[in-house]
Amino acid sequence: MFATALSSITWGIARSTLHSSPAINHYSTLTASPYLDFEMWAKCEARPHSSPLHYHLITMQLQPTDALLVIDVQNDFMPGGALAIPDGDAIVPLINTLARKFDHVILTQDWHPTQHISFATTHPNKNPFDVIEAPYGPQTLWPEHVLQHTEGAAFHPALHIPHAELILRKGFRRHIDSYSAFLENDHRTPTGLAGYLRERNLQRLFLCGLAYDFCVRYSAIDGHNLAFETIVIEDATRPVGLPGSIDATNQSFSANGVERFSSKELGV
Ligand SMILES: [Zn+2]
Repeated sequence: MFATALSSITWGIARSTLHSSPAINHYSTLTASPYLDFEMWAKCEARPHSSPLHYHLITMQLQPTDALLVIDVQNDFMPGGALAIPDGDAIVPLINTLARKFDHVILTQDWHPTQHISFATTHPNKNPFDVIEAPYGPQTLWPEHVLQHTEGAAFHPALHIPHAELILRKGFRRHIDSYSAFLENDHRTPTGLAGYLRERNLQRLFLCGLAYDFCVRYSAIDGHNLAFETIVIEDATRPVGLPGSIDATNQSFSANGVERFSSKELGV
């Protein structure tokens, strides 16, 4: 929302206390870093508990220790796919643009065997979107999707991130689903991503992809809980939109301190 007003401003951190209208924002300009390749501005955040109102403007620059985490941009999640997410293909060009801003990009790929626990067809008399009680807790059932080595499991053909450094597959165990890129749905079995990020000293994650209210949600929360700074790029995601799932995701992000930005606010 501030991208136009800020287009001539470099970057910096400003913290100000204002006595005027909440609509007024305060910015400062600092010298750009040698490795700054785009401007990213955080939201001005009203602190209603204090008087006068405090506004905190955080501006961030991409660091060599940042990574873009692109979640499950696969054919089966696109319109016409087995588990289609409305408008899921609309974010692909934006993700390509975002990816060019990052030195480090990681792709995840949901990757299921036949008779996977998350498939409604695996369970007698169950339908997609029913919820069963799995040994590790509630499990939503889905249409069969992203079967290993099928076209539905392939990345969208327009996804173009040749410099991606890792493709992390998840959900390949028949008896455990894995929404999160970090932990499978038992919330204990690691995918190995946290170790990979730590060994490579990648500390801050920007998440995009599909779907906002499931795999992006759980990846962001787990990343945060594993001590990575996690930021969701909202307009580079799309939700499945089951009843209550988007509100629950937003509340979960707010409760856990996972920040949300739009790509415009990131200068893209
Ligand atoms: Zn899946």
